[in-house]
Amino acid sequence: MARAPRIKHYHAPGRVNLIGEHTDYNAGFVMPIAIAVGCDVRVSSIRKKEIRLTSKQFAGDLSFPLNSIADMTKTGTWADYVMGVAKEILALGFELKPSHLAIDSSVPTGSGLSSSAALEVSSALALLGDNEVPKVELARLCQRAEREFVGMPCGIMDQYASVFGEAHKAIMLDCRSTTHKLVPIPDGAEIVVVNSMVKHELGSSAYRNRVAECQQALSHFPGKPALRDVTLGELERTAAKMEEIPLARARHVILEDLRVENFLVAAEDGDLPMMGKLMVESHRSLQHDYEVSCEELDSLVDTALTIDGVFGSRMTGGGFGGCTVNLVDPEFVDAFEREISARYQEQWKLTPAIYRFSPSAGARRVE
Ligand code: ADP
Ligand code: MG
Repeated sequence: MARAPRIKHYHAPGRVNLIGEHTDYNAGFVMPIAIAVGCDVRVSSIRKKEIRLTSKQFAGDLSFPLNSIADMTKTGTWADYVMGVAKEILALGFELKPSHLAIDSSVPTGSGLSSSAALEVSSALALLGDNEVPKVELARLCQRAEREFVGMPCGIMDQYASVFGEAHKAIMLDCRSTTHKLVPIPDGAEIVVVNSMVKHELGSSAYRNRVAECQQALSHFPGKPALRDVTLGELERTAAKMEEIPLARARHVILEDLRVENFLVAAEDGDLPMMGKLMVESHRSLQHDYEVSCEELDSLVDTALTIDGVFGSRMTGGGFGGCTVNLVDPEFVDAFEREISARYQEQWKLTPAIYRFSPSAGARRVE
């Protein structure tokens, strides 16, 4: 009797960013947590010399001959996230084995919870198999896949959070040094994520524009490698020479980095009101200076701030839809969920999905 093929199972989580939005590609600070939803990849050996991909969530049974992968170009399908990773693994000098990757993810796509990084990181582990790379290299190779193959000029936050996530702790990541500090989430607050259930098409082109606008702003500061290196005083002294839009984008990035640092201090002090206040300031900055929010997200934040037990609320992820993250007193979470759901439905005729997330472990082999 033929033996059933041995299946190896890998898991990589999605993430929710507590604060520090659009700072990662400016070499700044972010503070994500890895979450309990993630992407599972079950990998088995196959005879045919190819990588075969199937996904429970996306149609298509896609196959790529092993000898074509090094030179392959973007397909424009979801397979690009995995094949970009495969190419990076080859570029590092590892061999790919003929395999079938069966993908099954519980991260809602395009909601700002990073289904893409969960897919990349779990696929990378599956394709690497017994070939180990340092964890930070794992995050970096996945980021390169998304930037260079998929063509999304993303920072390192999503992949890093998926790799380095830890139970009970947020990760304060310095995106320049790619090192992190673990941050305790004080007792007395739950992280509640509300999905607006909208995703405005503008999203990916606006993301590219923001990356470009930050570069434009940076060109006013010769010798500074990134907006991370520009102080508020320097921005103020240069403001008169800058156009309004790059100035506002730089103001967001510089103040957002400071907010992440202050959020860390507040978290270590167990100062939930201060953490909440910083989240709201972050949202207002993303709304008015960075202009990546949308009416649905603004209404979720404005509504949340009228509900008892809410310390703070902000959009999370790239913007133009997706989720808000809320810091809520545990005793009030049930009432918060009922109230925000009812009021959002009334206003937008959409039922928001609501998730209670606690910080979870990063990517790993399951069995
Ligand atoms: P986010 O990362 O915020 O969820 P992105 O636009 O960056 O949104 O990534 C979403 C894309 O990732 C999907 O459109 C799809 O191409 C790919 N993807 C995510 N999850 C899966 C999955 N389970 N199966 C196949 N492709 C997936
Ligand atoms: Mg993504």
